[in-house]
Amino acid sequence: MHLPKAELHLHIEGTLEPELAFALAERNGVALPYATTDELRAAYRFDDLQSFLDLYYALMAVLRTEEDFAELVDAYLARAAAQGVRHAEIFFDPQAHTARGVPIGTVIEGLGRALERSEETHGVSTQLIMCFLRDLSAESALGTLDAAKPYLHRISAIGLDSAEVGHPPAKFREVYEAATALGLRKVAHAGEEGPPEYIREALDVLGVERVDHGLRCLEDPELVERLVADRVPLTLCPLSNVRLRTVDTLADHPLPAMLAAGLHCTVNSDDPAYFGGYAGDNFDAVRDALALDPEQLRTLARNSFEAAFLDHDEERRARYLSEVEAYAFD
Ligand SMILES: [Zn+2]
Repeated sequence: MHLPKAELHLHIEGTLEPELAFALAERNGVALPYATTDELRAAYRFDDLQSFLDLYYALMAVLRTEEDFAELVDAYLARAAAQGVRHAEIFFDPQAHTARGVPIGTVIEGLGRALERSEETHGVSTQLIMCFLRDLSAESALGTLDAAKPYLHRISAIGLDSAEVGHPPAKFREVYEAATALGLRKVAHAGEEGPPEYIREALDVLGVERVDHGLRCLEDPELVERLVADRVPLTLCPLSNVRLRTVDTLADHPLPAMLAAGLHCTVNSDDPAYFGGYAGDNFDAVRDALALDPEQLRTLARNSFEAAFLDHDEERRARYLSEVEAYAFD
């Protein structure tokens, strides 16, 4: 739980807890189809992807103003900091907000306002990763990148998320090329529901530096060999995999085999308000369900800082890594 770690796969919209959803709904005059926080919390116990996505997009309606986005970030950072997160690279989905009439500047400035004070307020360094919804068109992604240009000083990287199957990475070649030209770094979800081929495409066509999830690489031994040789980080999300039925139970999770194969695995929370836990909860859960020993947990934490986009501040990375080495398990 308290082992120092970086969180590299976290959707800020997925951190909206029922209490904050109700508070924002009231402030913004948005009607929620739930009478109480308990009723809403019960709805968070969905058991398939579609019921998750329905709730996820419905609740976003409460996010309207810069202040709303700033409060969402602050609430996440407080929870993450309490669970040992020292550095967070945070995804957001601008199209999910612009589609309901919230300007992209409101989203980015609101998130950015909270992030720029996060070290002071929470002791967590941060970066922002702008994700494109892959079930929308490539043109929509290009338009979003264009609309984000006045705010690029707040953004480190781009990513690709939402429903994977039927939306291969190559669909977004052009927007990834444009982002590269703008100096942005690149990640993408691949190989969660989609086949190993999507992971290859993300690497070869989009030029991603990390693969989000990447679980299905295990079906392709040559791909595993390549990921190991190139030390490509995979941002795994174990509790998310269980809730979305990517694995049957946590005890079935291939994390130990992936570590043994030499894959550069990290453990993250994905959409923690919905999937049953934040970063530290995920560490505790895999330790218990998979009997990971302290050195395996330390490797996961070390991997997270090595995979972080901290190239501009190697001194900070070294400091975080020494915190990992110094951590005493009780
Ligand atoms: Zn994700």
